[in-house]
Amino acid sequence: MIPILTTYLSFSVHEIRCNFLSAKNIDICCVPKTKHLLQDTYKLKGKRAQLVSELKSLGIHAPNVLRAVDAVPRHFFFPKDFLDKAYENIAFPIEGGQTISQPFTVAMQTQLLEIKPEDKVLEIGTGSGYQSAILKVMGANVYSIETVERLHQTAKMLFRKLGLDIATIYGDGSKGLPELAPFDKIILTAAAPQLVTSLTAQLQIGGKLVAPVGDLAVQKMILVTRNGDNEYTESSHGDFNFVPLTGSNGWAI
Ligand code: SAM
Repeated sequence: MIPILTTYLSFSVHEIRCNFLSAKNIDICCVPKTKHLLQDTYKLKGKRAQLVSELKSLGIHAPNVLRAVDAVPRHFFFPKDFLDKAYENIAFPIEGGQTISQPFTVAMQTQLLEIKPEDKVLEIGTGSGYQSAILKVMGANVYSIETVERLHQTAKMLFRKLGLDIATIYGDGSKGLPELAPFDKIILTAAAPQLVTSLTAQLQIGGKLVAPVGDLAVQKMILVTRNGDNEYTESSHGDFNFVPLTGSNGWAI
């Protein structure tokens, strides 16, 4: 008998985890099947596939980044009343006056970092948790720090529900996380007034840091590579507009 397919077919967290795992090329999924409010659908998967095509046309070429965008349901990290917007290539307001970054920006920063499995990555600005999830499904060991307590708590709970093993820290990330340094990669997801050596010094030799640096209106996407003890190279990758980094090395707002 041919099964009747509906356009709205729901998935359980079990299947979503399988999706995460397959993005890491892990074939066997043995997570117990539990129903959850977080649901993925064929329609939303289709919208994600369209988003992946759009990102490709905008210059995102790294296969592991494109696979991760395809695997992570962005709508899980999106304000519930606006799910229809979750796969538009736009930043969107979240709690605490903050934003979930534009998919292109997430993909661009991730591509610049050249993430490899088991990289130890520090993210400064957890926000919705979407960027952390992208890094995690690429196989990184993620430490994510957030200064808005409500956002930190919400992301922590969401990661737990999704079975994503991401270390979440509440505090001022503008200082980095010296107690857990060095990191292979560091990503700032808020606009920094300048790059301070106390942050770049937390990179492993050979490590990379990506950060939007500039004034409050527009920032350059800066990629720093640590080549030696006191040797760094810098390159610039276009203009962006982020919410401000606060804290001791951020903006006094
Ligand atoms: N990566 C996030 C995502 O995927 O949703 C987007 C983050 S949003 C553009 C920037 C975040 O940086 C905000 O949640 C903001 O509260 C946080 N932030 C700003 N200054 C910070 C600081 N000093 N330490 C940690 N987080 C900070």
